[in-house]
Amino acid sequence: MLVPEINLTPQLQQRIATALPGARVAVLHSALSASERLDHWLAAARGDAQLVVGTRLAVFAPLPRLGLIVVDEEHDASFKQQDGVRYHARDVAIYRARLRAVPIILGSATPALESYAAARRGRYRRLLLPRRASARATMPAVSLVPNRSPDTHEGMGPRLRAAIAERISRGEQTLLFINRRGFAPSLLCAGCGWKAQCPRCAARLVVHRTEATLRCHHCGHSEPVPRSCPECGNQDLLPLGFGTQRLERALSELHPASRILRVDRDSTQRKGAFATMRTAIAAGDVDILVGTQMLAKGHDFPRLTLVGVLGADNALYSADFRATERLFALLEQVAGRAGRGVLPGEVIVQTDFPDHPLYAALVDHDYDRFAQALLSERELLGLPPFAHLALLTAEAASRALVDVFLGHAVEQGRSLVSSHALRCEVYPPVAATIARRAGLERGQVLVQSTTRSALHDFLPRWRAELERRGPRRVRWNLDVDPLAFT
Ligand SMILES: [Zn+2]
Ligand SMILES: [Zn+2]
Repeated sequence: MLVPEINLTPQLQQRIATALPGARVAVLHSALSASERLDHWLAAARGDAQLVVGTRLAVFAPLPRLGLIVVDEEHDASFKQQDGVRYHARDVAIYRARLRAVPIILGSATPALESYAAARRGRYRRLLLPRRASARATMPAVSLVPNRSPDTHEGMGPRLRAAIAERISRGEQTLLFINRRGFAPSLLCAGCGWKAQCPRCAARLVVHRTEATLRCHHCGHSEPVPRSCPECGNQDLLPLGFGTQRLERALSELHPASRILRVDRDSTQRKGAFATMRTAIAAGDVDILVGTQMLAKGHDFPRLTLVGVLGADNALYSADFRATERLFALLEQVAGRAGRGVLPGEVIVQTDFPDHPLYAALVDHDYDRFAQALLSERELLGLPPFAHLALLTAEAASRALVDVFLGHAVEQGRSLVSSHALRCEVYPPVAATIARRAGLERGQVLVQSTTRSALHDFLPRWRAELERRGPRRVRWNLDVDPLAFT
């Protein structure tokens, strides 16, 4: 059984122990100590373990008595290893199941469009679970409210603030979801318009107030918050936008007597911190949770009845064609945290675009409608699952090195396509979304084909050419079925 996150495994282990008493379970994930990992790996390899639960790397565990594979939350992007040996654990799992002639179950409330399309074509069999896990729980009511109003305070509109106050008075819990850690995503000089930039990346620095630093979320660069603008000396520097720390502070000012907990990568760095927090939340020792997607999945907190969503609109205009698919899955999961027990749940999403089809589908909890709309869009644009992609990315100390390498790569690719009459298209080189990261200039070339076999014919030939002429000062790699275009 594959699960997307390590954080989910303890809760999952409890459920398995309840559902399958006495089952011999082995757990495989990267947070185990080397000796624990060896013990569990051996239990899997010898066939002693009846159930092996793990994150993506567990897909390679030797399983002599394999009879069934389950991929939970199969749409989750963390099943894809994005560097080193690139693989998608769900796809490897499908392949292993076929090799061993055993059934495989892909589980999700919001399946990846690739899986969804395969079910529609009849390649996969679709099994529906129309009810929530607890018979008494109902789907939470979702409302869309404006982001900005005259009465908005620190990003929170009047409707959301009133709902939070109501939960506090009833002794229920609130989760405020914002997928940005730190205090504010950028720092602006009100005098000259200067914005704090990472010296090593084409990216803004994020204000971290708790640590009094500016930090780059791409390369880890960190520097003290300047007292005045380095360009014009003005002391009026404004943090722009909202992150988890800023909401945490605003809430503690609004509700000084309430217990507020921030859950993000910064607050959970210490080993075991997240487990301690989860216990505190479950015990009712927290009134308001402010968190990133770490809190979105798999946690059951029966007294959590309100979920507020801030800043979700950002993903609507992303350059990544999968951004809305991911946003829907994320919001549906976040919304699913409310009202899992006996108490009914409510979700308030702040948005400037209440008519967007994504939000309309979210209000109705109607993934089918949204998925079908996305599929027609993808078909029209020739994007996956109606086409297969590969991405060549390159990085080097200078833009010229990247441009020359990718220019040659495109020429070589196009000549291979024409000499072997392959149905592949090699697109012109473009700068990566983050054009410079950790001091390296970055660019990419996209290859698209309507058939998998044409791509398979093309890529090994192209790779051989690239390796033959590969300049030493350019680092490059080829990603088949890329999930990230950053
Ligand atoms: Zn300035
Ligand atoms: Zn950086």
